[in-house]
Amino acid sequence: MTDLLDSDIKFLAGVGPKRAELLTKELNISTFKDLLYHFPFKYTDRTKFYSISDIISQDVYLQLRGRIQDIELVGIRQKQRLVAHFVDDTGSIELVWFKGIKWLRQSLKIGPEYILYGKPAVYGGKYNIPHPEMEEAEKAENIKYPFAYQASYPTTERLKNGFITSRTIHKLEYSLLQKVHGQIRETLPAWLIKNLGLPSLKESLLAIHFPENQDILKKARYRLKFEELFYIQLNLLKLKHWRKARVKGFIFKKIGNTFNTFYSHNLPFELTKAQKRVIKEIRRDTGSGIQMNRLLQGDVGSGKTLVALLTILIAHDNGYQSAIMAPTEILAQQHFQTFSKMLDGIPIKVSLLTGSTKKSEREKLHESLRSEEVHILIGTHALIEDTVNFANLGLVIIDEQHRFGVAQRARLWEKNPEHPPHVLVMTATPIPRTLAMTLYGDLDVSVIDELPPGRKAIQTAHYYDNKRLKLFSFLRKQIANGRQIYIVYPLIKESETLDYKDLEDGHDSITRAFPPPQYAVSVLHGRMKAEEKNKAMALFVKGITHIMIATTVIEVGVDVPNASVMVIESSERFGLSQLHQLRGRVGRGAEQSYCILMSGVKLSKEGKTRIETIVRTNDGFEIAEVDLKLRGPGDIEGTQQSGIPFDMKIANLARDQQILEHARRTADEILEKDPMLETDDNLLLKRQLQKLTTSRTDWSSIS
Ligand code: ADP
Ligand code: MG
Repeated sequence: MTDLLDSDIKFLAGVGPKRAELLTKELNISTFKDLLYHFPFKYTDRTKFYSISDIISQDVYLQLRGRIQDIELVGIRQKQRLVAHFVDDTGSIELVWFKGIKWLRQSLKIGPEYILYGKPAVYGGKYNIPHPEMEEAEKAENIKYPFAYQASYPTTERLKNGFITSRTIHKLEYSLLQKVHGQIRETLPAWLIKNLGLPSLKESLLAIHFPENQDILKKARYRLKFEELFYIQLNLLKLKHWRKARVKGFIFKKIGNTFNTFYSHNLPFELTKAQKRVIKEIRRDTGSGIQMNRLLQGDVGSGKTLVALLTILIAHDNGYQSAIMAPTEILAQQHFQTFSKMLDGIPIKVSLLTGSTKKSEREKLHESLRSEEVHILIGTHALIEDTVNFANLGLVIIDEQHRFGVAQRARLWEKNPEHPPHVLVMTATPIPRTLAMTLYGDLDVSVIDELPPGRKAIQTAHYYDNKRLKLFSFLRKQIANGRQIYIVYPLIKESETLDYKDLEDGHDSITRAFPPPQYAVSVLHGRMKAEEKNKAMALFVKGITHIMIATTVIEVGVDVPNASVMVIESSERFGLSQLHQLRGRVGRGAEQSYCILMSGVKLSKEGKTRIETIVRTNDGFEIAEVDLKLRGPGDIEGTQQSGIPFDMKIANLARDQQILEHARRTADEILEKDPMLETDDNLLLKRQLQKLTTSRTDWSSIS
């Protein structure tokens, strides 16, 4: 059955092919339905009129009623603008247009009463209103919106130039709703709507565009947000319930020799309570006969690597191979070294596979994976290539998951298609609860909420660039005390117009301030060959070089306990989680550690908030929350490759935590009773879910 809502937008009265093209290009609106789901971002009470003399602030939309007194063209060429004086009984205000001048000049009339809608600005000490929307009062009254609130819609400059304003869209919504209102079919089951006391979809869509009052608007917004989040959660949790019901897991029955030997002889410290708890959770999963899919969250330096290693040893004792995948070559290298060192004296074979592994070695490695000679494979995404096959892969660990997409995750699972390995996913930095529930909503979650004992909290300070001499003398003192230092730069090659410290300049000035032979400096950046990188890293790890100058290649996971100072140049350029990650490179030994954020004096509001946040707190979970609020969910790393099957139009993960929790709880309760959504009651849910998920096929193939 064809659905009226799927009609091409050009067939809506008042649109036509030209406007349709603009709407599609600018707002991605190509069907009736797209327009219906193009939601307002704010509402104005249209029953309320201001007087010109009442205008006391800018940046607030308001409605005036008055007449145009005169209108003239001012300036020449590009600077040309149309200026009108608008008067009511209380005063006069200037209206200014920079675009669409010709048309406006012809159509605006001196004399008749207008209803004006716009946002005052201040220019030359006086208020004016740039680009107001104007409507002749008589005509406006003829249209007679039946509702008091005027919705404002997101538009673009191009649309406005094509005479599609927020007002135009509002009118289009009106005629659209008149046409399709009878045909809007409910997308949530009647019993659910009734139980939760939600308004129907029909009511909600009408109210979101034309609210009669605040109360119905609030209910409509709740319903639409709830529905979006609910289907995302239903999708994720269905996958989870399905796996639990159907996907068998290898059973790691025992704790064996390797684990016990390691635990009593090789483990240099006591596990933290949190590490113990997580190991228990993992043991429970891997012993249950169901495939494990677990997310391990823990702050930087909380000891996730060790949890990974212990899990691998459990797999080994039960006769299974393991693979661990890291996002960068440096990190893979480092895991390889850490594992080799920690497993010293234990008969277990660890191998490394990265992009720079030579072909001949690679072939040998492939062979020894198939013959089970190699027990643990550590690598980068080279691991997921089809040529890599295991004899008996029982466990896959993904470190720093935010760098990998869901699709990559899925490919590792497929390494053993008949019997997928257990999967443990570890995040680099904590992510907020709402984001975790959405990005990793199909996984069980473990949290390490405690750092190993004896760590001193890192002291963080913000220095402006003019304090550089003070910084250098501090660094000299640290080096004299036997400590090592990271200095991190945001870019390798600066763009000439930007005033950012570039790594090469930085290197020059650092070697001048810290000259050989007294001081030794290493450099590390993304353009170096793997071999050079390893060499630079090795010199620093061994303590031969005092200072490591680097770009963010060292951001993830690098572990050198003797390094106690992290200097971040142009810190205003880094994102919050990056700053937190970078800071996490120090504070790993027993010494007091420091993080110093350098910046210019001119800071954007956001840049300032980021720096202040890092100075104020060491808590990764708190930082993640601020990050989400500052950037919005769409920009957070990993969100794009996430398993969210459709774009969220109204719900917002930064603001709608409670609705999300409600949606997840509701979805879980439904699946608890009916995991495959097979009962008549849930038929609509099943159909709706199919409809929503088929648009992004990658996602559905993962289940
Ligand atoms: P992350 O969680 O950021 O991956 P790592 O696993 O790299 O952290 O651990 C950080 C440091 O803490 C490492 O040097 C590691 O050896 C050490 N560590 C891990 N667990 C403990 C523990 N229980 N007690 C003391 N030190 C620990
Ligand atoms: Mg790590």
